[in-house]
Amino acid sequence: SSTANQKPPGDPKTPKAAAKDRKKKLLCATPPQVLQDTRGRAEYDRGRQLGEGGFARCFLVQNKEGELFAAKTVAKKSLQNQRMKAKFFGEIQVHKTMIHPNVVKFIECFEDSDNIYMILELCPNKSLMDMLRARKRFTEPEARFFLLQLLGALKYMHGKKVIHRDLKLGNIFLDAEMNIKIGDFGLAALLVNENDRKRTICGTPNYIAPEVLFGSGKEGQGHSFQVDLWGVGVIMYAMLVGKPPFQAGDVNVIYQKIRHNTFSWPEEVPVSSAAKHLVHSILNHDPDARPTLDDIADHYFFKSGFFPRSIPVSAGKQPPVWR
Ligand code: ADP
Repeated sequence: SSTANQKPPGDPKTPKAAAKDRKKKLLCATPPQVLQDTRGRAEYDRGRQLGEGGFARCFLVQNKEGELFAAKTVAKKSLQNQRMKAKFFGEIQVHKTMIHPNVVKFIECFEDSDNIYMILELCPNKSLMDMLRARKRFTEPEARFFLLQLLGALKYMHGKKVIHRDLKLGNIFLDAEMNIKIGDFGLAALLVNENDRKRTICGTPNYIAPEVLFGSGKEGQGHSFQVDLWGVGVIMYAMLVGKPPFQAGDVNVIYQKIRHNTFSWPEEVPVSSAAKHLVHSILNHDPDARPTLDDIADHYFFKSGFFPRSIPVSAGKQPPVWR
């Protein structure tokens, strides 16, 4: 199915979640040729579908000035219960306030009788997941480039007390110049108080931090900003090896691997000792023992080899030749 194509190999959802997704997808009809605000303000011509996710379909759209955007479309019918509504409006609220060169820009939001539309900055080069699938794995210079941008965006988000909570290659998009743009704030949480801890279990199995699954071992504590650091570690491993570290066909096996921190480096894949050292330090079971975003950016991995000024678009298909 097309849903299967959207998912990275070995990034399984629980059967329950998958069934839920299928149900929601049925509820989302193709929106009209022209997307219009009920109040007659916004107007966009709809083009081809760019992709679909858990409960949204995304279309290429054009405004009156000829500028292109992505329109994330959610059927009102699919927001049946209060929880779904809260999740979606939470996503809009958080995303609206995120203004950073490495975060998908939120342009505006409006509705017609059937759908709610989020107009977003267009990322024409798809996601890091799509790129990884085409490439199998990235070179270390590319990983340095993408990771440092990711760290910058996270530093900004965390500074605004927002935890993304669903960092994964599929939620990191690429703009026309191959800069990364973090998208999909569907699970993001705003911590009003630094000491607040979120308790909800969320995230994608392969990328989930151990404290989200099993608790931090510290009585009465939930999880906080450090879950995004764990995500960075998983993303870095996946970039260099070509699959996430705790990969398995069965979600419960993934959880067991995360619980016991079971991961290894395949012999046939050359990864530098600097990169391995950084990944091991980030994937620490104790959230408080993980390096901070600044610690990660200061790691010698980022200084131990070529650091490209930009990534060519051709890198979406084949390894770049640096000159
Ligand atoms: P969901 O929250 O339902 O998972 P996503 O935000 O992941 O939805 O979007 C679904 C798909 O739409 C993505 O996998 C991608 O293919 C496409 N998409 C989302 N945002 C953009 C964007 N800004 N530019 C281009 N394509 C996008």
